[in-house]
Amino acid sequence: MTLFERIIARELPSTIVFEDTDFIAFKDINPRAPVHVLCVPKNVSRRLDEITDAAELGRLFETAIRVARDSLGLKDYRLAVNVGAGAGQIVFHTHVHILGGWMEGDAEMHHAAMAAVDG
Ligand code: AMP
Repeated sequence: MTLFERIIARELPSTIVFEDTDFIAFKDINPRAPVHVLCVPKNVSRRLDEITDAAELGRLFETAIRVARDSLGLKDYRLAVNVGAGAGQIVFHTHVHILGGWMEGDAEMHHAAMAAVDG
């Protein structure tokens, strides 16, 4: 069982901000931005490029956008995916990082978050 499957099964605590039959989104335990949420498909794949179905990839990003906009109320945000250990992936259950909530014009924090999400 992956770490995120244990969160889905409520075996591990998390702060869930969105859930439907196919996806869950919860706060990152080590936030790298004022708002940092992970959008996770319940259908387990190890990394993004294992998902070969374009519709499934589309649903993942459609959900991440909906969570950012509707659940988190973000107007501007970053979506990031680390694909493989060499790119900073540490949890091998595909997920999209949603980062946002910076003060407008706070370029320093914004760029720090961009660097930090790579692990
Ligand atoms: P990645 O480096 O793309 O694999 O990202 C994995 C993310 O999962 C990191 O940002 C971690 O902070 C986050 N994380 C690890 N354990 C937990 C947890 N129990 N609850 C929430 N987020 C977690």
